[in-house]
Amino acid sequence: MKFGGTSVASAEKVKHVANIIKSYSKENSVVAVASAVKGMTDDLLQITESVKKGNKAEIEKFIDKVAKTHMDIAKDAVSKKRINDELRNTISSLIKELEDVLSGMVLLGEVTPKPLDYLLSFGERLATPILYYALKDIGVKSEYLTGKDAGIVTDSNHGEAKPLMDTTKLKVVHNLEPLLKDGIVPVVTGFIASDQNGNITTLGRGGSDYTATIIASCIRADEVWLWTDVDGLMTADPKMVKNANVLKEVSYAEAMEMALFGAKYMHPRALEPIVDNGIPIRIRNTFKPEKNGTLIVKNPKAGSHQIVKAVSMIRSAALIDVRGGSMVGAPGTAAKIFDVLGKSKVNIMMISQSPSESSISMIVRKNDLDKAVNSLELNLLGKVIKTINVTDNVAIIAAVGSGMRGTKGVASRIFGAVAKQAVNVIMIAQGSSELNLAFVVNDKDCEEAVRAIHDEFELSKIS
Ligand code: ASP
Ligand code: MG
Repeated sequence: MKFGGTSVASAEKVKHVANIIKSYSKENSVVAVASAVKGMTDDLLQITESVKKGNKAEIEKFIDKVAKTHMDIAKDAVSKKRINDELRNTISSLIKELEDVLSGMVLLGEVTPKPLDYLLSFGERLATPILYYALKDIGVKSEYLTGKDAGIVTDSNHGEAKPLMDTTKLKVVHNLEPLLKDGIVPVVTGFIASDQNGNITTLGRGGSDYTATIIASCIRADEVWLWTDVDGLMTADPKMVKNANVLKEVSYAEAMEMALFGAKYMHPRALEPIVDNGIPIRIRNTFKPEKNGTLIVKNPKAGSHQIVKAVSMIRSAALIDVRGGSMVGAPGTAAKIFDVLGKSKVNIMMISQSPSESSISMIVRKNDLDKAVNSLELNLLGKVIKTINVTDNVAIIAAVGSGMRGTKGVASRIFGAVAKQAVNVIMIAQGSSELNLAFVVNDKDCEEAVRAIHDEFELSKIS
């Protein structure tokens, strides 16, 4: 069971989570994984700006705030005095360590990936002990472990580390199975692990989901439950589509398509460890435990007749269109363009090229737009490409569903529905997997387009 940042954000919530674990651990072996308190990882990232500037006053203020946040939660999360004292001592020494780390970084005056991972680890390392002591407080036998203690070993790609699964499996089994046999609940920090030299690594943003699936695959868990603050994967963002629905079951492949831009953000690699073993994932709402949430499995039964299951969208995107007569029939043109953008660390989210080959359209995040255009102008304008056109403020809309595969007329229904709302489609892409049909519209039109597709496929009635 993995609990996200909102699930541990107050004393009340921590106690509630501890009780959920308590009730399920009576009849099951449970491993708990916890994230940092909501917003903490962002704050830790943010403070690196002050580190670079050597702004000691800001850093001191920050440390006080972190201490207060966790002490406030700790104060009421644990009622027995002796246990509460232990918890507060744990937090105090972590805060002391955080202070040391930050002053070391200020001395160096730079923030490199390795110390950054060490810094980011404090989010989970401060939050998870609170849950651990809260469990002890209500009489649940448990043990606190960092990702490293649990046995998760990764490569040294700091910030986006990948688990070395063979070593990890041996270690995790060795470390966790004896505890589970004794009816002890291991309480593990999400997101963080260590490389083979013992340095702290992180698994990428949202990595606590990944921690849970890594551990689950090692110990061959029956299920992974990701407890969060939404009811499950939804047919659309409920903030935009009033009658959006919770999906009862989706396949791994569909979940992967929805992970990045659905209501519940999931780590893009989180499904990897469990797909081969076929371990199901359940997404559940911590605050509505009576609901079933969404089940992610290899071959879903529910809703399998459904052609489109969800409509998602990404805003804050921009379109770059490059043209030039010399692009036509010239092998390596696309490679050159993508190479330039790759070297400038611009992530391309969507690509389309017409068979005339005279233009290539790409979608990037708005934040990357200037970087992208500058590097294209500098390296390729006047050579491979003749003109660069930019449309900022566009949104990607994607219809997702494995029922689209081989079904005729899906595209016509989607674009028909969008056209009825007089929304113009700027660009289209569909991979041959047919799991996903994505298109681009002006940002101002995106909500209307999402609602049109949601209505067309009657997603409010899906169950
Ligand atoms: N705390 C980490 C993050 O914010 C990991 C997680 O929340 O899953 O990215
Ligand atoms: Mg999170």
